[in-house]
Amino acid sequence: MTSLPQPLLYAELLSVGTELLLGEILDSNAAFLGRELTARGVMVQRRQTVGDNLGRIVAAMQEALGRADVLIVGGGLGPTDDDMTREAIAQLAGQTPYEDPQILAWLRGLFESRGREMPAINRKQAWLIPAAVSLPNPNGTAPGWLVTLSTGPLAGKRIAALPGPPREMQPMFLKELLPRLNLPTHAFYAVTLHTTGIGEGSVAEQLGAALTQAGNPSVATYARASGTDIRVAASAATAEEAQQLAQPVLQAVRAQFEHFIWAQTLHGEEQPTLAQVACTALGQHTVAVTEAGSGGALALHLAGQSAVRGVAVSEDHAALLTLGLTPVTLHAHGVTSAEAAAELAQAASTRWGADYGLSVVVNLAGGQGHAALVGAGQTHTAAFNWPGNAAQVRERAAITALALLWRGLSGV
Ligand code: AMP
Ligand code: MG
Repeated sequence: MTSLPQPLLYAELLSVGTELLLGEILDSNAAFLGRELTARGVMVQRRQTVGDNLGRIVAAMQEALGRADVLIVGGGLGPTDDDMTREAIAQLAGQTPYEDPQILAWLRGLFESRGREMPAINRKQAWLIPAAVSLPNPNGTAPGWLVTLSTGPLAGKRIAALPGPPREMQPMFLKELLPRLNLPTHAFYAVTLHTTGIGEGSVAEQLGAALTQAGNPSVATYARASGTDIRVAASAATAEEAQQLAQPVLQAVRAQFEHFIWAQTLHGEEQPTLAQVACTALGQHTVAVTEAGSGGALALHLAGQSAVRGVAVSEDHAALLTLGLTPVTLHAHGVTSAEAAAELAQAASTRWGADYGLSVVVNLAGGQGHAALVGAGQTHTAAFNWPGNAAQVRERAAITALALLWRGLSGV
């Protein structure tokens, strides 16, 4: 028997900063906030990005609060003229900012402790409005604001402003804002199944509309470089109920794609890489690698894995001949062939004294390649054919080889 869920809290996110619009930095703050809020059962339904323009910031805030209960704004709390989040909130609340003597004293002290005098421009970081509670910032000069609107059509809605730099924003969100939000007890449970070797379209087709269109539990797919991720999620009043709700769907999806799933992670948990999972499957065994044409992309994935005895990277035919490619194969099949990959994998294991040899041979221009895994008396090969730019093809080559290693050793 599941208890009735409490009313959901709807949140929206607003990122402020022209640098975000120009694509100079990625909005990692919104990603962090989305993850953290949904993990606590908050419905994050929309996010916006606006540049440093007062009118557009106010309009975005107004629009968001017309829908959501809480709006979390990131950025625009700096000391300069183009940091206008405080001005925007003051305008929205219809209140005039004043200098808070306590914050001003703290700010002055901060500069003095660094042996500097506070520039006059920083004074606005000591601003408050009557409706705002100041959120302390131990990692920078910009305190945050939590404002509850008390008049007008948005009365009762809340708006929080957090500083832009992630190392200031994240602790402020967790330590200062979350406890003050008094979130309803609502839990979100989600597991992501990481697959490789099956495209997002095929996954969606095999899942069927009944699953992909369901709301709670929900099933969603994401195309990643490592393959297709499938997320099964449910929300309920408690973590246990959410998990119970998700469980049957999760089991069905897991069974359906068991030949493709290389890892699964709980929402909020750090996910392993395909290289980590493949090397774990090696157990005590070792592997040596030769890459032809992939520029060390595979070596980069495998960096730090103790099972790797050595890696050789080249695309020069003469060098590949010294790495184990035979002239016969080179002439009969070319470098970009399963035969060449198998020879290079075999030679890698011999040369480095490893239990397994892994190789990848790539035709960058065509976006084709082959990977080979040799060891324990067996040879496995895999091919890919997926044109793209050089970086994409190198990455696919590396993923194809890692998937082959994982598959070959885990017997999936
Ligand atoms: P601001 O508070 O808008 O002056 O932002 C200060 C700095 O924080 C920016 O220069 C960025 O380096 C960083 N920053 C601001 N917004 C974001 C965001 N949404 N994601 C990641 N970093 C951000
Ligand atoms: Mg800014």
